[in-house]
Amino acid sequence: MTDLPRLQLLECVLEAVSVGTVVLDRQHRIVLWNKWMSRHSGWDLHRAVGADLFALLPELRGGRVQAAVTQALENNFSSLLSQTLNRSPFPLFSNPAAQARGERMQQAVAVTPLALPGVERHCLIQLTDVSMAAGREKLLREQTELLRMQTFSDGLTGVANRRAFDVAIDREVRRAKRNGSMVSLLMIDIDYFKPYNDHYGHQQGDQCLIQVSSALQALLQRSVDMLARYGGEEFAVILPDNDGQQAMHMARTLHARIEALALPHESAPGPVKHVTVSIGVATLAAGRHGEVAALIGAADHALYAAKRQGRNGIVAAPDELI
Ligand code: GH3
Ligand code: MG
Ligand code: MG
Repeated sequence: MTDLPRLQLLECVLEAVSVGTVVLDRQHRIVLWNKWMSRHSGWDLHRAVGADLFALLPELRGGRVQAAVTQALENNFSSLLSQTLNRSPFPLFSNPAAQARGERMQQAVAVTPLALPGVERHCLIQLTDVSMAAGREKLLREQTELLRMQTFSDGLTGVANRRAFDVAIDREVRRAKRNGSMVSLLMIDIDYFKPYNDHYGHQQGDQCLIQVSSALQALLQRSVDMLARYGGEEFAVILPDNDGQQAMHMARTLHARIEALALPHESAPGPVKHVTVSIGVATLAAGRHGEVAALIGAADHALYAAKRQGRNGIVAAPDELI
């Protein structure tokens, strides 16, 4: 090993490393192009060496790679290209199968000035294949997003769950107080759902919950409005910036939609033989210093008033409650 000339050893190493290595002279001409580059670009040494990098790969012109090369050659600065902005700047492929699919290698690119004794400044471009790491990162991000969705959405109906509701109502009440704006809350409970389950079975009960929630959700047009499953067969709707009248209007619309669904409910006591809901409406008026618990309490109270009044109706909480 000690007998091996140093230059020959360095050349062997350069050809063996798993890093793309390109050296450019001051005129952007390729003076070094290692085996890794040939393997992943399809261009052998003879085609690359002597060519202007930006003539060989015109798509690099005017981009971050050219800017980094200029920085290195003109200003003696090193650059590490941001991977989020430059996922695959070079037309390189991890393997022939990926090339056949047209799937470029995801690259980490570093550009470094080289001060060589007695000649003009050169620059070194190092490329690494980060496709595997990027793939793992993507998978992790997807799994995190899925977990986040599962944490905040109801497993049966897919609408926001109680946890998401608690976070949202707290945020909206604080926002309303900060901005001197309003927020309204509807509490919606399916009437006689226990007899529905007893008559049609739990599975049919589940289907009823899915149909009711998707009908309610379809009517919420603004992205700030939130429908949540508050508990069993009870739903809540948060309406930021809505006053009592607007909230009543929304409550009537939702109520009428459930009526229009006309889901049969043979075992309902009384003359109405389809699924209905009762709704309680409460508003935190502008400039009030009401708390979340007071708003929920007021909507709940109104809901139970609607139940006491015979169900299938809407009751608004009196202002004093909030
Ligand atoms: P009211 O008109 O006063 O609201 O009467 P109700 O029968 O709807 O109210 P109650 O609270 O007595 O019963 C609610 C029922 O909802 C009881 C429970 O079995 C049912 N329930 C709660 N969660 C689910 C669910 O996820 N699936 C099904 N199928 N039923 C559920
Ligand atoms: Mg009920
Ligand atoms: Mg209930």
